[in-house]
Amino acid sequence: MTADKKPAAKFGTVFCKQMAIANSSNGQWGEINLQPVQPLSLHPAAHVLHYSSTIFEGMKAYRWADGQVRIFRLDRHLERMRQSAEAMCLPFPGVEMVRKAIFKVVDAVRDEIPGLPESLYIRPCLMGTSPDIGAAALPSTDACLFVLVSPVGDYFAGGLRPLRLLVADKTMRTTTQMGRVKTGGNYAAALRVTMEARREHGVDQVLFCPDGDVQETGAANFLLIDDKRILTKALDPTFLHGVTRDSLLTLARDMGYQVEERPFTVDELLERSASSEAALSGTAAVLSPVGELVCHGKTYKMGNGEVGPNAMKLRKALTDVQGGLAEDRHGWLTRI
Ligand SMILES: *Cc1c(COP(=O)(O)O)cnc(C)c1O
Repeated sequence: MTADKKPAAKFGTVFCKQMAIANSSNGQWGEINLQPVQPLSLHPAAHVLHYSSTIFEGMKAYRWADGQVRIFRLDRHLERMRQSAEAMCLPFPGVEMVRKAIFKVVDAVRDEIPGLPESLYIRPCLMGTSPDIGAAALPSTDACLFVLVSPVGDYFAGGLRPLRLLVADKTMRTTTQMGRVKTGGNYAAALRVTMEARREHGVDQVLFCPDGDVQETGAANFLLIDDKRILTKALDPTFLHGVTRDSLLTLARDMGYQVEERPFTVDELLERSASSEAALSGTAAVLSPVGELVCHGKTYKMGNGEVGPNAMKLRKALTDVQGGLAEDRHGWLTRI
């Protein structure tokens, strides 16, 4: 890192000047328009404000050294958004229309997309807008789709600090039926537990392990890594199926790691802590090393508590594909 590099904007607070937006009324979707990023006008009875009918996605576009912009795993994100909309009974405009909205806004802000290691974070959001507080047990018939875009810095520009997690073996992040849905209420539901854990245990995040089943943190998947193997929970409805998780497991297999996807318990996690690295995976940070776990008042170091070599190797393998420094063998990048 160069000393004169300006600090990157805090993730999530700086947006490009334009967004894409479309509205649906009684199942009819209108045009996708570009408009300045500005406050939205919603009826105070809007379904989303009362009954949380909202879903979102998060993906990134990268500007390669050749100047071209490419979106990482667009199809996967679109498909997950479709599934989330279905789970929340939201009117969905179809993946092709969401793809068009994304292309439209990314194309409009093309000149604002930073080069590597920075990127453009893309946040599509769909919410129920029917002005009907009587619809607590009915879907919203009207909806608004918008796509916000935000230039984001290298998450680790300030240096890499291993995270400290609280192992919560009694609490759930969300309900079983909503675990794999990217919906606002899930984050609201996890917030109080996370704030208490920060205050009482000085941790960064909570690792939710209801009845001892190691699931994930509030917004990232959890992986246990050593020189030969990667262990992570097998896909089931209780947790969010991360695109980053899937990408890392695919590259890990290519690199000769043995990938184990299966349920595992807090007991196994703690047994393996001294001999393993751990990391959190998600679009924003890619792969963040975990240095310590706090469980029942006791602190366990993951490996030597420092940033592990395997986590860094996997992280680099993925960011190299995203940035065009390694071959895109799985067809993950869409040029726009
Ligand atoms: C978005 C998210 C993830 C990570 O998913 P990616 O597709 O890798 O960004 C993990 N857990 C939760 C709860 C999430 O919302």
